[in-house]
Amino acid sequence: MPTYVDPNKCDGCGKCVDICPSDIMHLSNSIFSGRKAYNIEPNYCWECYSCVKECPQHAIDMRGYADFAPLDHKLTVLRDEEKNEVRWKLKYRDGSKNEFKFPIRTKAWGSIPSPQSQKVPTKEQFDSQFLSHEPEYLKTDQGLVTAKR
Ligand code: SF4
Ligand code: SF4
Repeated sequence: MPTYVDPNKCDGCGKCVDICPSDIMHLSNSIFSGRKAYNIEPNYCWECYSCVKECPQHAIDMRGYADFAPLDHKLTVLRDEEKNEVRWKLKYRDGSKNEFKFPIRTKAWGSIPSPQSQKVPTKEQFDSQFLSHEPEYLKTDQGLVTAKR
């Protein structure tokens, strides 16, 4: 479900541009509408919704797929830091609504270290078959989890 920006709500802060891993959130600078963000290529959207959750104006919505909601629906996400939850609001074309709530992770917003602050992998680590920072972060050195009966 790619994202799109509601230009009436966007104030051009650029936070979605900074956080988008696919670099598809750009800012326009039209003399008519001013500085506004827009998704330049929805086909390349990872659907990670980092921009949706980061936008302080709640200006970014999603275009849901037809198997998720019939055409002509509206899908919005609100990040409520006071209640520590993310609320998804789905409005169907017949006017009925559905709402889902999920807790925000337990780590404080913005407290996860960026990839740039991590140690640079050695050549041996680059050449190995391990993923980045494996086994340290995946904890696979402590043995794989096995199902218990
Ligand atoms: Fe606009 Fe929201 Fe992006 Fe800021 S984060 S530029 S308000 S869409
Ligand atoms: Fe970029 Fe993710 Fe937003 Fe798509 S959902 S525009 S990939 S930040």
